[in-house]
Amino acid sequence: MGMRIGSGVDYHQLAEGRKLFIGGVEIPHHKGAVGHSDADVLLHAICDALLGALALGDIGTHFPDTSAEFKNIDSKILLQRSYEKIKEQGYKVVNIDSTLCLEMPKIKPFVGNMQAVIASILGIDVQAVSIKATTTEKMGFVGREEGLVAYATVLLEK
Ligand SMILES: [Zn+2]
Repeated sequence: MGMRIGSGVDYHQLAEGRKLFIGGVEIPHHKGAVGHSDADVLLHAICDALLGALALGDIGTHFPDTSAEFKNIDSKILLQRSYEKIKEQGYKVVNIDSTLCLEMPKIKPFVGNMQAVIASILGIDVQAVSIKATTTEKMGFVGREEGLVAYATVLLEK
């Protein structure tokens, strides 16, 4: 079996006084995501999709939020480490498709940078990193700008 598929989802609260990192890029906004690490919702969903594709557990198993080692850690390091676990098993990433779900800010101007960051960590072309964005039409916690969500699907090839 040479191909494996994985999916990941992640949620973070938004709060004043935090920086907002999405897809490895700092985005100017009056609110940021709350978490033990830098709370990068998109990179976390991609980590979970990578690990999930090979049934290696989830991001919480490998990088526990109770560990001081991961306090405020740059999630690009978590993505790098997740990718290393995939490589150890002889797999590479074919492509990623992802969706961000947030009301504000508009992330379209930053998507190119996010793609470049993720592609360089995973050693793939930017064209293999899809990042889509949607709102919830003002409904629910996303609509109230209390939080944001990311979904990711990855395909791996041996
Ligand atoms: Zn997270």
